[in-house]
Amino acid sequence: MRIQLLPSTFDAHGQATQEQRLTCFLIDDRVAVDAGSIAIALTNEQRSKVRDIIVTHPHMDHIASLPIFIDDLYPTLHEPMRVHATPEVIRLLERDVFNWNVYPRFSDLKNDYGPVMEYVPIPLGEPFTVAHLTVTAVPVNHIVPTVGLIVSDGKKSIAFSSDTAETEEFWKLLNNAQQVDALLIEASFPDRLAKLAEVSRHFTPASLGEELKKLNHNGLDIMAVHIKPAYRDEIIQQLNALKIPNLQVMEPGRIYQW
Ligand SMILES: [Zn+2]
Ligand SMILES: [Zn+2]
Repeated sequence: MRIQLLPSTFDAHGQATQEQRLTCFLIDDRVAVDAGSIAIALTNEQRSKVRDIIVTHPHMDHIASLPIFIDDLYPTLHEPMRVHATPEVIRLLERDVFNWNVYPRFSDLKNDYGPVMEYVPIPLGEPFTVAHLTVTAVPVNHIVPTVGLIVSDGKKSIAFSSDTAETEEFWKLLNNAQQVDALLIEASFPDRLAKLAEVSRHFTPASLGEELKKLNHNGLDIMAVHIKPAYRDEIIQQLNALKIPNLQVMEPGRIYQW
């Protein structure tokens, strides 16, 4: 499986910057997990292929350019953009984003070829299919309804924590899986902001280190993501100090293959 954390910003030479402001993972150039930077960082070829987007929760950094992405493609879509999310998250997207005030309700609109956007409600704890992938979602511990995921293409399995603090079901899901090849997990705030991390339900390097003790799989790649740009260097130092084998910081723009 080919996974790219899309860059959020580019420097004056058009090179991706390493700060991650928005969250959007692209799987096999075809399926997106979250859509923060989807409208600003895809190549034209990727843009022509991505028709399935899994939204883990409705926070702005995870959906910021989703409305713009659909808007950009509006006249050319031969099939609807499918937004896969829990019914709770779908309700929040309809109420707060695609509400005719912030942006049009694309799920009610058609172009010359048919509907342009379709919600696909996802179950919790049961596998479902998205394009060529099998996905299982479970609730994690964040301040709005949020899911963590395990995604499999039949050969490799990759887990996405989304945004979360200390959690249980996600680790059960991983520990029950036969195989987990990589875990993409958040580390939002430095240790000195543990209180802020707690109230906003995020990890610090210290709380992430504790949490990883719940994982029974060995040898998988652990990729730290969602590192708040304002504290990036400090968080990376603290992650390195944990001395956890196979823990590294995921680089926006780079293509990873598992
Ligand atoms: Zn969030
Ligand atoms: Zn976030």
